[in-house]
Amino acid sequence: MMRGLLVFAALLVAVFGKVTFEGHKVLRIVPKDEVQLSLIKDLEEMMEFELDFWKGLTTVSNPVDVRVPSHVLNSVKDYLETQNIEYSTMIEDLQMLLDMEQKVMAGARVPQPQNTDSFDFANYHTLEEIYSFQDLLVAENPNFVSKIVIGQSYEGRPLNVLKFSTGGTNRPAVWIDTGIHSREWVTQASGLWFAKKIVTDYGTDPTLTAILSQLDIFLEIATNPDGYAFTHSGNRMWRKTRKPNPGSSCVGVDPNRNWDAGFGEPGASSSPCSETYRGPSANSESEVKSIVDFVKSHANIKAFISIHSYSQMLMYPYGYKTTPANDAAELHKVAQKAVSDLTSLYGTKYAYGSIIDTIYQASGGSIDWTYSQGIKYSYTFELRDTGHYGFLLPATQIIPTAQETWLALMTIMDHTLKNPY
Ligand SMILES: [Zn+2]
Repeated sequence: MMRGLLVFAALLVAVFGKVTFEGHKVLRIVPKDEVQLSLIKDLEEMMEFELDFWKGLTTVSNPVDVRVPSHVLNSVKDYLETQNIEYSTMIEDLQMLLDMEQKVMAGARVPQPQNTDSFDFANYHTLEEIYSFQDLLVAENPNFVSKIVIGQSYEGRPLNVLKFSTGGTNRPAVWIDTGIHSREWVTQASGLWFAKKIVTDYGTDPTLTAILSQLDIFLEIATNPDGYAFTHSGNRMWRKTRKPNPGSSCVGVDPNRNWDAGFGEPGASSSPCSETYRGPSANSESEVKSIVDFVKSHANIKAFISIHSYSQMLMYPYGYKTTPANDAAELHKVAQKAVSDLTSLYGTKYAYGSIIDTIYQASGGSIDWTYSQGIKYSYTFELRDTGHYGFLLPATQIIPTAQETWLALMTIMDHTLKNPY
């Protein structure tokens, strides 16, 4: 009956509009020992609770952030209290934050900017606005910026990549992607700012100018466009792709568990209803397969950087196994420098290390695959914050987040330039 009602509710939403989160709270749970860790893992597997883990389970004393729907709030609290598990409320009223975010967006929108100078980088934008920004940037910089369509999303949207190049053919290159998880809005917003920063600083900033004299930069801003469109039209908390799963009422695959590196191993789910569902097979998602095909056919990408939020971390392979990467020492040193440069701007603290040591075991992730393809400088970021607003980072933090992240990106790109391989 419950399942039926939920499916019915989902249908209503599909027909009539947006999912609301009235009464939802985000709880921060802190496991104090191995027993509590496994009790929280049990909670994660109770699909009927429909919990949404914003920040997953790691190790003892590392907080776990969970969105709890109103109808199960008392059950979840009872469960935690009975087991003596410590928790606090991270977000008291999720819908209120969402309403505020909408109000800010609606109030600030510049109707159709005619050039990228008047684009409002301090606000969140729809997919259409991102697409038109990209076209404006290309039109304004025809000899420097071009747009490549590397494929189509499940729903038929173009997978656009901006290419920044000062010449040459198939130069060594740096790849940057944002928004593979659609609800991580500060990442796409930062991607827009990076694109503008590259055209602004080229020719004036000596370090970036040197980088671009030998390397091309590829930037995919809306890496999961169906998911991103859906975060605006249907469900702000959407993370996965939008491809239906045969035999299940749950939609979508986690596009960062779908790569051919440790695919299907621990660190991803085999359940289509999970937020970390790996998909039926590696590269089953066109959003992933298109990047795989592009990276293989380009065959000269030297740094691959995939940007997520939140947690404030900079990580390198591996995510699916504890074996250190062959280049771990060098990757660690570069990460240390990148983080120190990032922190120098606003004091934002970052953790760094391999994925499995720093955040948690994650299989089928993008940078484990790119590393296996010989791309030594494979990194992934988790941007702001550490769990105050989580995915609902206020728009006032977009520019500071992008600015500090840019310093770390410059460190990685500069190292790539100076250490050819
Ligand atoms: Zn993510």
